[in-house]
Amino acid sequence: MAPDSPTSPAAVVPSPAHDLIDAYQRHINYIRVSITDRCNLACSYCMPRDRVPKLHHRDILRYEEILRVLAVGARMGIKKVRVTGGEPLVRKGVIDFLGKVVAVSNVAEVALTTNAVLLKPNVERLARIGIRRINVSLDSLDRQTFKFITGSDLLPAVWEGILQAHQVGFAPIKLNMVAMKGVNDNEIEAFGRLTYSYPFHVRFIEVMPIGKRRTDAHALLLTPEIRRQLERRLGPLLPVPARAGDGPARRYRLKGAVGEIGFISAISRHFCADCNRLRLTASGQLRPCLLSDHQVDLKGPMRAGCSDDDIRAIILQTVRDKQSAHRLGRGLGPDICGQMSAIGG
Ligand code: SAM
Ligand code: SF4
Repeated sequence: MAPDSPTSPAAVVPSPAHDLIDAYQRHINYIRVSITDRCNLACSYCMPRDRVPKLHHRDILRYEEILRVLAVGARMGIKKVRVTGGEPLVRKGVIDFLGKVVAVSNVAEVALTTNAVLLKPNVERLARIGIRRINVSLDSLDRQTFKFITGSDLLPAVWEGILQAHQVGFAPIKLNMVAMKGVNDNEIEAFGRLTYSYPFHVRFIEVMPIGKRRTDAHALLLTPEIRRQLERRLGPLLPVPARAGDGPARRYRLKGAVGEIGFISAISRHFCADCNRLRLTASGQLRPCLLSDHQVDLKGPMRAGCSDDDIRAIILQTVRDKQSAHRLGRGLGPDICGQMSAIGG
């Protein structure tokens, strides 16, 4: 059992400052915040062929508003914040904002999810403000395939950014690879081999049916198949013991590797029983679950002058609203209407 799983003793005995326990005894201590729905790439599993209408600037939460929500949440027991998007590094002032997130009392860890297109020029400043953990989307090590998936020929910039972050001491660097049949499944072995040379955590992700996108159900590649391919070519995957804060990925290592391999299997093996998170969308909606369109508005009340106690009540209500498990089965199932870029992956 993972040390922070909902049924472990540490999880069911709340600390006095901890209000955030849901109806299924899950301890909610993590929030993901999408700070923009804009992106400098257009990945096939995240964006449709036609442009999705972007939020008007006035409809995007201001940094001060996000910081206010985080300060209230941190007093209730939120310990970890991940800043994501869209592409967070395209939003003006993001590094100063991240510095302020790091300074929010009671927040022990601030992490960033990025496509790394703008990582190299920002990496030193990120390190200086105290960010050490980044997740990078990297779906192909082949320039043509990368361009096919993302719409841009930017693999060299992305790879340089990743190497620069490694040199500066970011660890662990998690590389998220959305595996798609007939698109990049011929690179599963190459991604596995990366872990022999670099201490990166390569995580294979199943495509989720979220928003309008170009990738359809035919591309869905489930974890058991990815795992079979890896083991057939590179040998057995040795389990790495779970640690508190591991999140949904199951962790493994190849013999002799310095890095790790993980699987995020929202479809084939959902991890709802261990879910510890909320999401704040770019437009200021609080979501109890990525894979449900239920959300509660925070922006409206904040702009109408609500108190911190009102924000606290909305956070509590959203935690109470968390469903026990998402309803996606095998296949891409019923779609989630919101765009991943606005919800925050
Ligand atoms: N732009 C940043 C990036 O790509 O890392 C942050 C935002 S992106 C929405 C966050 C993560 O969501 C990425 O790792 C991406 O691979 C993942 N993602 C987006 N759409 C997805 C989908 N339909 N299924 C599974 N993962 C998805
Ligand atoms: Fe942009 Fe990230 Fe979505 Fe790709 S996955 S289009 S990089 S937000």
